[in-house]
Amino acid sequence: RLSSRLATVAKYVPKGAKLVDIGSDHAYLPCYLAKNIGITYAVAGEVADGPYQSAKGNVSGEGLSDIISVRLGDGLDVVEPGEVEYVTIAGMGGALIASILENGKDKLGSVKRLILQPNISAISIRQWLVDNLWKLEAEEILEEDGKIYEVLVAEKGMNAFDSMEPYGQSLEEGLLLGPYLVKENHPIFIKKWMNEKKNWQRIYHQLESAVQTPDTMEKKQELLHKMKLVEEVIRIEE
Ligand code: SAM
Repeated sequence: RLSSRLATVAKYVPKGAKLVDIGSDHAYLPCYLAKNIGITYAVAGEVADGPYQSAKGNVSGEGLSDIISVRLGDGLDVVEPGEVEYVTIAGMGGALIASILENGKDKLGSVKRLILQPNISAISIRQWLVDNLWKLEAEEILEEDGKIYEVLVAEKGMNAFDSMEPYGQSLEEGLLLGPYLVKENHPIFIKKWMNEKKNWQRIYHQLESAVQTPDTMEKKQELLHKMKLVEEVIRIEE
């Protein structure tokens, strides 16, 4: 059975999709999609040899080698331009996911939808999407085994207006928290940002008891600013 985290990613891949899953590890996601959703073509990309071998073993063990091609390589290097229409990247930090998209821009011309699941720092992805004219279409938040995950779904926008549209008047808040997640205000979303805020408070107090330099002062200002952003969105009971 697929984890809830990967099942949430899978929800956004339609039947018949041609997909690349970057950082596929054991290739559970493309195997699930081939067996249960009816994708017709997938590339499972891996940069590390151990996970690449594990993906190859699973794909051939499941009898899916006709549908899923397992390839060793960095990010989107594993596909040719025009080869796929859907990209999934799950289980990594947001900054790494954004750098994979940035370095693989020339492969995104034929891509209709990106389904991205950052473990941390979703803000880096939202910023990349806005900068590169991708429109955020949906966001999900879920908790599994004590960890909170976000899933971001984006489609190619026509222009800057399209890619900014979900944020309305609150770009900074939306980039940090997620415009759809702010609207939905799910209990897991509230839990996540209460935790983050507690963490920032702890760091703030540590900085306050350290020697004050221009650097510590700047960090304190940043933390106060982020705490204020979160407080404006969520009523946090102290
Ligand atoms: N996607 C799977 C999931 O969500 O369960 C596996 C996540 S695993 C924590 C991250 C995988 O990404 C590792 O197997 C790692 O080798 C791979 N990875 C990291 N950087 C990569 C890159 N630049 N290109 C391809 N794979 C990468």
